[in-house]
Amino acid sequence: MKSEYILDYPVFSDKFKKTHTILIPSFLDSHMDLIAGVLEKKGYKVRLLTNTDTMLVREGLKYVHNDTCYPALCVIGQFLDALRHENDLDHIALVLTQTGGGCRATNYVPLLRKALNNSGFGQVPVITLNLGNLKASEGIKITVPFLMDLLSAITYGDTLMFLYNKTRSYEKENGSSLKLVNKWKKFLREQLCLGKASTPRKIKKNLKNMVRDFNALPLNDIKKVKVGIVGEIYVKYAAIGNNNLEKMLIEQGAEIMVPGVFGFLLYCFANGEYDHRYYKTKLSKKIYNSLLLRFISHYENLMIKAIKNNSSFTPMKPFKETRKESIGIIKHGAKMGEGWLLSAEMSELIKTGYSNIICAQPFGCLPNHVCGKGVMNKLKSLYPESNITPIDYDSSASKVNQENRIKLMLAVAKEKLNSEN
Ligand code: SF4
Repeated sequence: MKSEYILDYPVFSDKFKKTHTILIPSFLDSHMDLIAGVLEKKGYKVRLLTNTDTMLVREGLKYVHNDTCYPALCVIGQFLDALRHENDLDHIALVLTQTGGGCRATNYVPLLRKALNNSGFGQVPVITLNLGNLKASEGIKITVPFLMDLLSAITYGDTLMFLYNKTRSYEKENGSSLKLVNKWKKFLREQLCLGKASTPRKIKKNLKNMVRDFNALPLNDIKKVKVGIVGEIYVKYAAIGNNNLEKMLIEQGAEIMVPGVFGFLLYCFANGEYDHRYYKTKLSKKIYNSLLLRFISHYENLMIKAIKNNSSFTPMKPFKETRKESIGIIKHGAKMGEGWLLSAEMSELIKTGYSNIICAQPFGCLPNHVCGKGVMNKLKSLYPESNITPIDYDSSASKVNQENRIKLMLAVAKEKLNSEN
């Protein structure tokens, strides 16, 4: 379906498969290589963008109004910068994931199209992968086998991210956990590309070996401050969007935990069920959402079981448990942006020992400020030991200010940790 806002633009079709290279923006380091493998299996040529200077956002600001959501500025900035360095613009396409729903993220594609047209890149087609509404994707048709491949990639990606975060702060040999991450990413990308990593049997086998590999890493037996990261999906996961938050926390001597992508995906489909109950959306839509909720939960369970059965690490809870964590804090009708998922994830993190939390938000992101910052007093009253700091990210926000606030939070956390020892 073409956008209503820009009427004349190239639509990516099957005939572009052989001729065009698809550029993938930086986001979710543990997952994107694997998703690239899935696209390669389908015959697409892909390239992950590596231009990650945080100043890229200036490029976005030239063509997108500065009151637009910060994630849009970052992604559009990265694309425009990459296109400026391309020699063959007639054979390039871009891919953008969308969350669907009522939030402004649903309008990122028209924003990108407008920026492309105004910056002289109007011939570049944009593929959209819509996570909240799979039928609304444009450029690549999401079939059941393709969805299964994508979910396999997310299962591996979430597991890798979890295992990396569990080990990277404690490794005896510097860089050993990253070496393992890279080994597995390379292997899985190849296997996904060959179509040899998406059956339940293969997933179980690969997850078991992966978890065992990380569990065998020599780690220091020391106590570190544990920090959970929640927030708007882009600034939570993308180093460009959060000024290298994870790196900074690790350098400051913390262990980090970032809830996986499955939580967000399942949250989107759970909201579809809620809409039917309270807003009387079509029954067929409800059935579609319920089926996907169950189908995706199956993949999440494979990951949780593999971690439980093959390591000493405690996995995060399954979504159906996480979902209950927000009860009594915020209603499930609060579902714009990351909505009630924020309080559910924060509550779960606190209960699993990550009582220090950074809630990363784009500046001016109303839904997440309401559902993130807005529930902090409630969370504090329920969990007095919690130490939550909201951090705003924006093109004009000072990195020094952000880091100072984080260091203050860490100082409180370290004092508490020392008093417990
Ligand atoms: S969640 Fe916030 S940043 Fe994301 S689209 Fe909505 S308003 Fe913008």
